Parts: sequence; C-alpha cells; structure tokens
Amino acid sequence: MPYNRKAADTLGTSYQTAIDNNNGGNFGPSLIKFPQGTKAYKFDPALAGKEQFINILPWAIETDKHPRVAKGQAKIGDNDFMLDLYTHYVDGVLKGSCVCMAQTYGDVCPFEQETEGQNLGAAKRRTIFWVQPCDRNGKPTGDGAPMILNVSHYAFTKLLLEEADIQGRDQGLGGSIPFANPDKGYVVGFRFAMESSGGAQKYAQIKRVDFYERRDPIPDTLLSSIPALDSLIEIPTREAIHAALYGKGSTSSATDAEASTESTEDQAQDTGSVAPEETF
Ligand SMILES: [Zn+2]
Repeated sequence: MPYNRKAADTLGTSYQTAIDNNNGGNFGPSLIKFPQGTKAYKFDPALAGKEQFINILPWAIETDKHPRVAKGQAKIGDNDFMLDLYTHYVDGVLKGSCVCMAQTYGDVCPFEQETEGQNLGAAKRRTIFWVQPCDRNGKPTGDGAPMILNVSHYAFTKLLLEEADIQGRDQGLGGSIPFANPDKGYVVGFRFAMESSGGAQKYAQIKRVDFYERRDPIPDTLLSSIPALDSLIEIPTREAIHAALYGKGSTSSATDAEASTESTEDQAQDTGSVAPEETF
C-alpha cells in the first residue's frame, strides 16, 4: 500500500531499527519478484567518484513477510523505505536471489536443505529500495520512473544509515536525517569507487554520503505507483529451489565451481553491489 501521509511518521523508527540490526538478524529463503518492466538502478563505473543523487521512496508495509514485522519490530500499515534481508544467490544457476529463511526469519532454510554439504551460495545481507534518480534538489532525471536498488548492506546501506544518524545528530535533529520522508525528506547524494576483493570482478563501494533538502514533496501519484516491497517477497518451497538449482540442465560440476568462488568471500568482500539482471 502507498505511504500513508496521514499516519504518524514511523519512518524514524525504521532508521534506528536498521542500525540496530547491523549485527544481523534471523530470517529464511524466498524469491523476490518485481513488477514486469521494473528497471534496476545500476552503478555506472564511468561515474565512480562523481556525486550521484537519488530520492529513496517510502511505502507502507502490507504483509507479515516483512522481516521487521516477523521480528515484532514493525506492524502492517507502518511506513517504511527498505527491506533488509539475507539472500542466497548462485550465479548462473539459481535464476534470481533466494531469501535465506534461516537468517531472515529464523525458520528452516529450504535452500540450505537442498544444498547441504555443498558449500553453495552463502547467505549475504542485501538491502532493497525503491529509488528515483534525481538532481541535487530532488527533481527527477530521465523518465522519473521508480527503480529498484538492490545492494549489499556492507557496500552501500551501512554507510548510508550511519551517516544519516551522525549527520542528523550533528544538526540537532535528535535522530537520523529523515531522508525517506516524502514531505520533509532529503535527497541522498553519494559517491562510490569501483573496488575488487582480489578477483577480476569489481563492485561499487560507497565512499561518501551527503543529504540535501528536497525542494518539492514526492507526489502521491508516484507513491501510489510503487508496490510495498514486502508484498513482493515469495517464500520459496524446497521443490522450487530444487527446480531452480537442478531443473534447467545445469551440471553439478559447474555448480560446484561457482560455489567455491562464492564461498570464499566474507562480508567485507561482498561483491555485486547491484543485483545481476537475473534477479529481475
Ligand atoms: Zn539460508
């Protein structure tokens, strides 16, 4: 459901909870399906070091699939602006990310059941936002259509939330900068660098975050156009995971080879700041 302008501003608690959750939480596996035609926000390597601007768009929680609802930290109807989850991803084999049911919800994880003993696709902490590229004042650039930003917690979200908290306190706001508030919110300006964890693959690592007062409110027409992100989570069955992993003619040797690359990464080396195309 769309962000509720009439409700008390519950976004503030979201920022704090997101920071509180920095040490992880408990959840399980599922697939996230975005509406057809949804575009992914990408970090263009050519823009590394140059400040980029986005509006982060809020919505209201619709389901108990929202990890914070599952943990009793939020309720259906609360306004929110991000999903903080753990996902499994197996490059080229599993077409899309699978929510880790264990680390996200504290349930049995079908992905881990299906891949037991294979050391395959370790769960990584990801954040999903609805964003709109814009200029420093918040005026949309391009066609203005909302896009999905699917990023590593460690490569993007952690610094965003820490800076919102630090800068909000510096400014005497008594808490985080309410960047996602559609009426008195802020444009998020950030810079990133392309880094690697030793291999050939590079990923965008956020280096600096600044906040700029948004000149105009986010219109209701835009807020009404984005589905609540929690409503898009699909809780997977073991059968669906099995079919995704083994049902498409992939050999187990290819799976193992890709898995060994994946499993050597630790949190700080979490690659792939932006989800691969397959996720959509
Ligand atoms: Zn799992």
